[in-house]
Amino acid sequence: MDSSFRRNQYGVKTKTLRGETVKSQGEKQIADYFLENRIKYTYEDQAKTEVSAFRSEISHPDFYLPDYQVYVEFWGLIDVGESKDRERYRKNMDWKKEQYANNGIKLISLYPWNLNDLDGSFKAEFEKVLGRELVTGPVGEKSVYALPISKDFEKWLLNDIPSKLMSRTLQLVYLPYFFVEYDCFAQTRFFYETVNLESHGMLVIEGQNGAVADIALHSGVSPQIQQTGCFSGCAVIQQRELERSKIAQMASFSKIEAFPTKISRSDAERIARVEIAKHLQQTFRKQLKNRVETKTLRPYENNVRIISVDLMHVPLVTGVFQYKNRVYQRMMQSTTCRIVGDDFAYCNVTERNHPTESVILCEECGGLACKDHGKQCVDCEKNLCVEHIRSKGLVLKKYYCPRHYPK
Ligand SMILES: [Zn+2]
Ligand SMILES: [Zn+2]
Ligand SMILES: [Zn+2]
Repeated sequence: MDSSFRRNQYGVKTKTLRGETVKSQGEKQIADYFLENRIKYTYEDQAKTEVSAFRSEISHPDFYLPDYQVYVEFWGLIDVGESKDRERYRKNMDWKKEQYANNGIKLISLYPWNLNDLDGSFKAEFEKVLGRELVTGPVGEKSVYALPISKDFEKWLLNDIPSKLMSRTLQLVYLPYFFVEYDCFAQTRFFYETVNLESHGMLVIEGQNGAVADIALHSGVSPQIQQTGCFSGCAVIQQRELERSKIAQMASFSKIEAFPTKISRSDAERIARVEIAKHLQQTFRKQLKNRVETKTLRPYENNVRIISVDLMHVPLVTGVFQYKNRVYQRMMQSTTCRIVGDDFAYCNVTERNHPTESVILCEECGGLACKDHGKQCVDCEKNLCVEHIRSKGLVLKKYYCPRHYPK
């Protein structure tokens, strides 16, 4: 491409796949790259930033990526025109870059020669500026790339919810999780014998805060980490491209949101090594003539080998239920339908969790009560908690609401 041709191209306004008018072919290529790779962007004057003073000072930045809070500028005229013009353009560019730096605003710079390998250049620059690798999506303008939502999710989400709470809103959030397959092997000598500790499994790490979310043991000794089973079942399921409209058809979600990772793949590996080593141990015993000798073997972090790391976006649906002034929520991992957070496992009377029982909703106070602490009026079938219901009889108790309580 010779430079005069490029200059001509630069002046030609063109339309992106998404439909906005941009200043050049280069900007179009970048915008379309963002769209196709599920990177949310805003273009020029649509850009929203808290630093408005800064914005007016340096005019409009080309692109803003809200998920990563980073600006992208395409320096399209860096190598075109007379050397005098180039000099002026370069000076202006340096000044702008300085403004970004001085204001602590992250900026990714792209140049015409990056367009030949836009994907590679953008990813490299992203890593340099943000200090972590680019993880795109999963929610784009038209599609979502994530684990699928089970067809039965609503049935399980609403299972055993008191009927008075059936009016609700559903919120869908995609959260990133790292599925780390590990293998641990440690060895020591114990009474002239070699003894081994072995453990092979998969650790699930939340991609926003690095917390351990779940573990599944494949063989060997189990680390002392709680197996919730809430996420481990997702490991065998593949991410898919899903049209947004199809997701919208599944249920009337009041919002669909996605969050990118805040930790990198190597962070996830490091966390897995630390957690596995910290929570694994095996005690060996030996019966001697008149005593028992024991030895406990604990692995080192470098005994833990990482086999694979998969990053997947898991759909989590929260049902928000309202009654009088109270709001109740239940959150479900909606790929294999596991409840991960549940207000309905709680009894307001004892202020304790009753995880296996269904609860009733007291129509007087709006509180939830387990079967022991919530009853129905034998006359009107109104549900009330023990604080608002009255009973008659000693052996065969009957329960009444205050209105139907016999005089
Ligand atoms: Zn009550
Ligand atoms: Zn109770
Ligand atoms: Zn009654």
